Amino acid sequence: MAHLTLLQNFIDGEFVECTTYIDSYDPSTGEVWAKIPDSGEPEVNAAVDAATKAFTVWSKTPVQERSRIMMKIAEILESRLDEFAKAESRDQGKPVWLAKAVDIPRAVHNMRSFATSILHEVNKSTVLDAMDAVNYTLRQPVGVAGLISPWNLPMYLLTFKIAPAIASGNTVVAKPSEMTSVTAWMFCKVLQEAGLPKGVINFVFGVGPRAGEAIVKHPGVPLVSFTGGTATAKRLRMTAAPFSKKLSLELGGKNPAVIFSDCDLQKCIDTTIRSSFMNQGEICLCTSRIYVQKDLYLTFLEKFIEATKKLIVGNPKESSTFCGALISKEHLAKVKGYVTLAEKEGATIQTGKEELNLSTENKNGYFMRPTVITDISDDSPCMKEEIFGPVTCVVPFNTEDEAVRRANDVQYGLCATVWTSNASTLHRVSRQLQAGTVWANCWLVRDLNMPFGGTKESGVGREGNFDSMDFFTEQKTICVKL
Ligand code: NAD
Repeated sequence: MAHLTLLQNFIDGEFVECTTYIDSYDPSTGEVWAKIPDSGEPEVNAAVDAATKAFTVWSKTPVQERSRIMMKIAEILESRLDEFAKAESRDQGKPVWLAKAVDIPRAVHNMRSFATSILHEVNKSTVLDAMDAVNYTLRQPVGVAGLISPWNLPMYLLTFKIAPAIASGNTVVAKPSEMTSVTAWMFCKVLQEAGLPKGVINFVFGVGPRAGEAIVKHPGVPLVSFTGGTATAKRLRMTAAPFSKKLSLELGGKNPAVIFSDCDLQKCIDTTIRSSFMNQGEICLCTSRIYVQKDLYLTFLEKFIEATKKLIVGNPKESSTFCGALISKEHLAKVKGYVTLAEKEGATIQTGKEELNLSTENKNGYFMRPTVITDISDDSPCMKEEIFGPVTCVVPFNTEDEAVRRANDVQYGLCATVWTSNASTLHRVSRQLQAGTVWANCWLVRDLNMPFGGTKESGVGREGNFDSMDFFTEQKTICVKL
């Protein structure tokens, strides 16, 4: 067997062995490539103790110094772009070019963005003339933050939590997904080199029901920021309830695209191909229900299928590859199960069932072709449930009201896209769609100054330069009688 990467937990600034380990697979080969600590309560307790001790100093460290260290972290991470992108691809299955263009640069940007925005923190003040008093607010860090992240965008999402947490003076116990922990472990070395004081960020690797749950139920962790599935979040809320913890939840989606006949068709198709299939469709913001106005439907479908068929699936190391491997054997089976179910229900699989032409190296990897389904009922599980893979359904609609009603008719409300050249239609539809973000004539254009999050079962709370600060700090009002 090839050389295995053996991870350690990172507690109080030191790499610490664990007694038991679990396997982590390279999804593009189906082989074990790393061993992950199978941490539980003892490891979490040690990490919380270290973070609690560090909090007494870090919470009082001047904001300029916190910002300086974060900038250093960003600089070192950026200098290792290649190394991190290759490891992210090997761990997750995504193309190396994508990790290099999006995941790792975004992790660097997260660090810089929060390191900068914290320097411009604004407090409120009022003068009460009639009562001879003044009020002002202070923002204070909360304590040890538990940060739990998923496998689809490992470094991107993890740093979107770490950066605001430490910028605002909290300390951290983080647990990345057990399926993609390697880059987080590599990141620990970056933290050491950047001179981050011991205990400010601690990593405990392992599975959700053990390591994750131990964080959520630890009384010394007053706030938990979680990104992951809606079903996991329900369990997490129940575990956290007796402790009255602050919770931030970024969850699943079933995101619609509403496409009107007056849209810029080529732009719409190019973008909707990306929004449906980028990162193998394993982005919470991916489009999985496409509603097209009836008179454009057949033209759209023909061009969309043609573009889908051109996407190259295979070796994530190749720069021509658009879709790499799905995260696991089980997930691949789940995603394919939805396609089989749609077929049984009488839907048409327009493309996706063609044989894959994989190299010997990748023949046991978890690959599937981007799949387009039509002639499917709005009640099908494929139209209601999050599939989280390269599968999208295309259906026609007649009127604007009908499109909005059908787009909103799911339990989720994370994001949506609207395609039209009519400004009134664009604003009217965007207002009515139940989603935390509506992208009009675009997708995944992100500004960290804007609030990000989900409505309905897609989440609780918002993240972003200002919104994450609301979560990671307590505002205190001080009233002074003159
Ligand atoms: P998941 O819910 O299975 O796991 C997420 C994290 O929670 C992992 O680290 C896991 O180990 C941990 N976990 C599992 N059980 C736990 C428990 N009982 N207590 C504490 N922690 C536990 O999700 P996943 O499969 O890793 O990720 C895919 C999901 O994440 C999809 O639903 C996707 O839409 C969602 N997601 C949402 C966003 C967003 O910003 N809204 C972003 C990315 C992914």
